[in-house]
Amino acid sequence: MVIVKTIAEAQSACAQLRGEDRVLGLVPTMGALHEGHLSLVRAARAACDTVAASIFVNPTQFGPNEDFSKYPRTFDDDCALLERDGVDLIFAPTVEQMYPAGASTFVVVEGVSDRLDGASRPGHFRGVTTVVSKLFHITGPHKAFFGQKDAAQVAILRKMVRDLNFPLQLVVCPIVREADGLALSSRNRYLSAKEREHALVLHRALGKMEEVAASGERSSARLIEAAREILAQEPGVRVDYVAVVDPETLKDVFEVTDGALAAVAAFVGATRLIDNVLL
Ligand code: AMP
Repeated sequence: MVIVKTIAEAQSACAQLRGEDRVLGLVPTMGALHEGHLSLVRAARAACDTVAASIFVNPTQFGPNEDFSKYPRTFDDDCALLERDGVDLIFAPTVEQMYPAGASTFVVVEGVSDRLDGASRPGHFRGVTTVVSKLFHITGPHKAFFGQKDAAQVAILRKMVRDLNFPLQLVVCPIVREADGLALSSRNRYLSAKEREHALVLHRALGKMEEVAASGERSSARLIEAAREILAQEPGVRVDYVAVVDPETLKDVFEVTDGALAAVAAFVGATRLIDNVLL
């Protein structure tokens, strides 16, 4: 496994990995890796001849009062896990590499970037689409792997790939959860034992939405109300949003249809967590 830190090295190493006719997969991450990330690596390993992973805590997707500086950084452990799971190349650039002084070009997917997390975290998806575009240009993958955990990100990246004709396939992998239902997240490391208990309410609320939908209820408002009742049972949890949306446009749907996306975001103490389910 090779670890490279500069864009020039990544470009030439990825060109070698692609060779004449090898399929290159890319798994973009911010590090602090867990089984969710590793499921993407395994999917890439199974579908591609060679696999590159990136580790980059991207400052442009963090708001001024968010956790950029204290985001968990576990580089050596991450490298060991990626090597174990058969990654060929790790691209771990510095902020200065990715954003040299004076860089002022951004990629924005208008409309959809302002919904769900984009509504609560202004500018977040502009940072995501900009860095992912750069990673795509630098590494030139045939397939890129993302988690359904970040459902809004998936919708936005799909649109970006289509709108800007990136010559690659986006592969979306299912949410990996703990045995008790908590969706794996690098931010779970911030939770105290008590907060971790409280955090389970997100999964319970989504389960309730599924249950109410399965009983034949078609009103999104009723599903949302049922989820909010569950979330209100945990006083340590502050809801950011509960929504039922079209998974492509992220616009609210008022009548629940098959494949609608039920999504929730909430603060557990100071930690913002998200989770979702396709109905
Ligand atoms: P991050 O390091 O948080 O930027 O995540 C990198 C990739 O891992 C993204 O495509 C996420 O959607 C994906 N991911 C994070 N958590 C999970 C999970 N619990 N299950 C599946 N994929 C995940």
